[in-house]
Amino acid sequence: MTDEDPLKKFRERFLFPKGVNGKPALYLCGNSLGLQPKAVREQLHEELDAWADLAVKAHHRADSPWLPYHEYFREPGARLVGAVPGEVVMMNSLTVNLHLMMVSFYKPVGTRRKILIEQSAFPSDTYAVKSQIRHHGGDPVNDLIVLKPREGEHILRTEDVLETLEREGESIALVMMGGVHYFTGQVHDFKRITATAQSNGCIVGWDLAHAAGNIPLQLHNWNVDFAAWCNYKYLNAGPGAVGACFVHERHGKDITLSRFAGWWGNDPETRFQMHLIEEFTAREGADGWQLSNPPIFSLAPLKSSLAMFEEAGMEAIRKKSLLLTDHLLSLLDAMPGERFEIITPREPEARGSQISLRIRRGAESLTQTLDAEGVIVDFRAPDVLRVALAPLYNTIEDAQRFAAILERVTA
Ligand SMILES: *Cc1c(COP(=O)(O)O)cnc(C)c1O
Repeated sequence: MTDEDPLKKFRERFLFPKGVNGKPALYLCGNSLGLQPKAVREQLHEELDAWADLAVKAHHRADSPWLPYHEYFREPGARLVGAVPGEVVMMNSLTVNLHLMMVSFYKPVGTRRKILIEQSAFPSDTYAVKSQIRHHGGDPVNDLIVLKPREGEHILRTEDVLETLEREGESIALVMMGGVHYFTGQVHDFKRITATAQSNGCIVGWDLAHAAGNIPLQLHNWNVDFAAWCNYKYLNAGPGAVGACFVHERHGKDITLSRFAGWWGNDPETRFQMHLIEEFTAREGADGWQLSNPPIFSLAPLKSSLAMFEEAGMEAIRKKSLLLTDHLLSLLDAMPGERFEIITPREPEARGSQISLRIRRGAESLTQTLDAEGVIVDFRAPDVLRVALAPLYNTIEDAQRFAAILERVTA
């Protein structure tokens, strides 16, 4: 497959860390922190030079002027998640964005007060929704619905999610789930869950931390109300990189929607009249949720990274992702003995680039053993290895090497 791999050329555009054995690591952790694109260093230097040479004038005169820096992501950001330009803005970080979105879109009224999330959601999401409920005078004991898999199962069945929405939808103000579950790697049925929730009067927001850059999305056509994600996992924009928000066009046009406001969300026509205009006028679109001027050094790596996603295209990335994960699954299935259980769904449409393995014996020491072999992979307590094959830089050989090492060290 490698010879005809259309994404082959991208691997050499990344920097690989060394494993503890001193050799280039077998890096299978792109779902946690994507590798550094080689182009990032130059991109950052460009901004450092602009600061040195032009200082404040760089806002207008740099090669990439700083003033409209967030706008450089308008089109590629939209293409990445199936949005129309204006629905996506890069700003803040993920959890901050979830809060800003909930300020506008979690509106408990009357008996419709609840938030629905999934069990074992990423802790930050759980903390965020619970604190929003409390902020509105509610109590998470009553106002939080946590969807659980059936007894003895690891993943949520879509039919159960839909059934809960039909049954309890009237009391739910907001559905806010992880589009791809960070622990199991399950990809949810965005379209059906969104439609069913909305037909029951709920607002729907998706956390796309593990979805953006991993699977093709159609946020606009699925009529998703809002979404947020981080750019340091599959999107390789560096540790703590600036995050992203999606606000559906129909909400973005409503400049009267309540929100926490800051000058960068103001209509640019009047933004620089500064204190002469004391009333905030939201800019249309997701841009109207920005608070502060863009952090250039934290956004610069995203420029280099998104350029590669643009060049490769999400369809090709998804195609390779399926080839890699199918191959890994077949190797794992062929391994003799009961060493682990694969908890990621088998159906291709229900998984992305991550395969999660529940290790039956000695999970923690296994991580150390793999580390000593130069394999960088993610372990989540109590016993799950998360293996990610990032299509831009991982290959079929990586899948084979991993399977061979795992077979040897668990024998
Ligand atoms: C990675 C991740 C986060 C991290 O939040 P930050 O605000 O970027 O630190 C939050 N939620 C989910 C679902 C994640 O996967």
